[in-house]
Amino acid sequence: ALDLHDLGKSYGGLKVLEGVNLNVAPGEFITFLGPSGSGKTTTLNLIAGFAAPDPGGRMQLDGRSLAEVPAHKRDIGVVFQNYALFPHMTVRENIAYPLKQRRPRPDRATIERRVEQVLTLVHLEAYGDRRPDQLSGGQQQRVALARAVVFEPKLLLLDEPLGALDKRLRESLQLELRRIHRELGVTIIFVTHDQDEALTLSDRIVVFREGAVEQIGTPAELYNNPGSEFVATFLGDSN
Ligand code: ATP
Repeated sequence: ALDLHDLGKSYGGLKVLEGVNLNVAPGEFITFLGPSGSGKTTTLNLIAGFAAPDPGGRMQLDGRSLAEVPAHKRDIGVVFQNYALFPHMTVRENIAYPLKQRRPRPDRATIERRVEQVLTLVHLEAYGDRRPDQLSGGQQQRVALARAVVFEPKLLLLDEPLGALDKRLRESLQLELRRIHRELGVTIIFVTHDQDEALTLSDRIVVFREGAVEQIGTPAELYNNPGSEFVATFLGDSN
């Protein structure tokens, strides 16, 4: 589904990302794991189209180069920590928003049906008329997730979507995320610096270190066969 080749990013002459290569299969659940500042979010920003990569790198989604495609036309759903809901809109209006931006714009009945479908998907059927400030943090995250999948994206990018939540809520949303991944069959890239979360959720984990990919493998491969001291320490270091 997604191919990244020799992807890099510099800010003001300083390289923050270098030589990232990754092939993601359709339907795969990939986790980006690594310490703060290692380049996880930067890589997501490049894929989403929120920042442009350095010249020379390549990004393709289903064989199509992403370079010339603006962010809102990439068929990519995003849930970023600071990518807030619209405070003045109800839950239903928030979720319908990306559909209303599509061209051609779907008709009203289609939009309504689709919004109800994803409200059910995240178990928020009863909350459609509330505004975001009338919801808990976990409910807001579920609305953000519903909004990200409402247009049936090929790829879903989740940047620490559970980061701000307490442990119990995190664990229940992890389960929900796995169910949604199964039900939709969508390809997911999930960013976390929580190794337990990565080991539980992922088909494969990409370990970042200082702006480069240190190792890629299944949870079992990384756990049983860490390629470096860094990976061993990072995966073993439970918090
Ligand atoms: P975290 O887990 O803390 O979110 P991360 O692995 O996602 O970390 P990035 O956000 O990708 O890390 O940051 C990688 C590096 O790039 C950091 O050193 C950061 O300071 C730098 N960086 C990110 N965005 C910019 C920017 N707009 N301008 C300058 N430097 C930036």
